[in-house]
Amino acid sequence: MIDYRSDTVTQPDSAMLKAMSKAPLGDDVYGEDPTVNKLEETLAERAGHESALFAPSGTQTNLIALMAHCERGDEYIVGQNAHTYKYEAGGAAVLGSIQPQPIDFEADGTLHLDKVKAAIKADDFHFAKTKLLALENTLAGKVIPQDYIRQARTLAIDNQLMLHLDGARVFNAAVSQDLELHEITGQFNSASICLSKGLGAPVGSVLCGNKAFINKARRIRKMLGGGMRQAGVLAAAGLFALENNVENLRIDHKHAQILADGLGGLDSVKVSHNSAQTNMVFISIPAEKPTDFCEFMKSKNILLSCLGNSIRMVTHRDISPEDIAYTIRHFNSYFG
Ligand SMILES: *Cc1c(COP(=O)(O)O)cnc(C)c1O
Repeated sequence: MIDYRSDTVTQPDSAMLKAMSKAPLGDDVYGEDPTVNKLEETLAERAGHESALFAPSGTQTNLIALMAHCERGDEYIVGQNAHTYKYEAGGAAVLGSIQPQPIDFEADGTLHLDKVKAAIKADDFHFAKTKLLALENTLAGKVIPQDYIRQARTLAIDNQLMLHLDGARVFNAAVSQDLELHEITGQFNSASICLSKGLGAPVGSVLCGNKAFINKARRIRKMLGGGMRQAGVLAAAGLFALENNVENLRIDHKHAQILADGLGGLDSVKVSHNSAQTNMVFISIPAEKPTDFCEFMKSKNILLSCLGNSIRMVTHRDISPEDIAYTIRHFNSYFG
């Protein structure tokens, strides 16, 4: 199957599995897993932070961050379609008693800073206390401009807000701009980074921040059931990915561009102009077609997530140039 539904479907390759099988292990709840410790130190340094914490998922590292920054009854400002707001089962509100204040994203994936400013509540006992601004980079495959991040940081500092990055795919953002990771993540008080997306590890996310923040985060991870024991077997996959798979994200981006160019040539397929900044292509197909079309593609071993007539296609390390060419051919044979 050529699976375009997400970059989370990537499988660990044999070299990664070998690194996992050789990793020295210990009990990480006691802080004694050398491989987890190495992953945390390595990624903290690369992200420009003092300290880091390994957790089972990006949903958990985001929730830990929100709970570490905000107390019960505090509020965070977030985008309407942001992962931490829309796709994490309401965890901040349910488990953290943190009120979200969602605002609409602009077309480029930023939150307009005037709207953010207007959403910050005055110190008044009628209101929740606005504590945090959460951004996402990449956001639906879009790269958030560095200039914007600097302005958001200034706004946060001026208004005593913490600034959190959901950086599930921040390595895609870094690679696409030829930046070092810390040039993006170092601007935030905390950053959550996924190893199990395009980087190809089977499991795991890392939360970065200063020492006091990560100490607090460690207690919350335990509370949420995210303390793992010989977790080095998973951290080894993450370390392997950091050493070997980051630069390869460029290939995924190139594939997305080839896909966007190829599909852009078809009359019935509309490619969104924000597509292919990194590893995502957004298309829409004629309204009457989606179910038919997705069944047709499935019969050709091409998996798409079809919810209505808009389709997100994600390129990743398990999709080859031949797969892309094959996919474009089948779009052609259906719509051409
Ligand atoms: C995947 C993802 C996460 C974390 O998801 P998990 O499946 O819980 O690891 C967080 N934010 C964004 C933007 C994501 O794409």
